[in-house]
Amino acid sequence: MTAMDAIDEFLEAYIGMSLKPSPSDRYIISGKFPVYAQYGDDSSTLVDKEFHLEINIPVDYPNALPIVYELKQNALIPTSPEYHKNSDLSLCLGSPLALFTQLSRNPSLISFAKACIVPHLASAILKKEKGIPFKQGELKHYDEGLEEDLAQRFGVKLPLKYVPLILSRLGEKKGKANKKPCPCGSGRNLGSCSCSIHRFISSERRKAGDSRRFYRNVARYYDFYVNRQKENPEVKNKSIATNSDCVISLETNSV
Ligand SMILES: [Zn+2]
Repeated sequence: MTAMDAIDEFLEAYIGMSLKPSPSDRYIISGKFPVYAQYGDDSSTLVDKEFHLEINIPVDYPNALPIVYELKQNALIPTSPEYHKNSDLSLCLGSPLALFTQLSRNPSLISFAKACIVPHLASAILKKEKGIPFKQGELKHYDEGLEEDLAQRFGVKLPLKYVPLILSRLGEKKGKANKKPCPCGSGRNLGSCSCSIHRFISSERRKAGDSRRFYRNVARYYDFYVNRQKENPEVKNKSIATNSDCVISLETNSV
């Protein structure tokens, strides 16, 4: 599915939204986005609202994540890290690994909206109106949040600076990856290194849970994050989950 296919399908379902003039690297859609969702069986947690959103869809979607903004006019969610809404009005939709997993399993933008955008908006409204905490549990902000996200997903703590190379190797066929230098920096090829990173990559390969494309996409995301910090140390501890100030993990029932 290409970005444009996904957008066409999305716009047919969300008739309040439309495609705007867009720069060359992404498509911009904006307009009214209805949310009708509830936590579990408790009808007091029903959310029935209309949001005004702008969604930026990278041209290489679904290999890169959409960024969702709540427009200033008629905004329902306070602009605050507490509500996972950043100063640039982007929403912190949650764990990057969860978002990439969603896209790799289902590239449809409608599904992404239902799985990732709707629960986020509903949670923010329930917090604002009823003081209900973001139900899904929240990751810590910044680097810590990303490390926590990786640890939850992979079961080990991976230092961020090694993540792009580790995931790139996982995104390649084993034979090709083994001829490349080990990410640990020993100077050995991955195939002949005996470090813990080599062991991690081997065990992750045996699980074979995700596609190589998934690893490559996540590697690219972290590569951008790590390099941005190198070039611009003052942005250290700014997540790129959405451009952004925070990272959270989300998982709700939406109806
Ligand atoms: Zn090594």
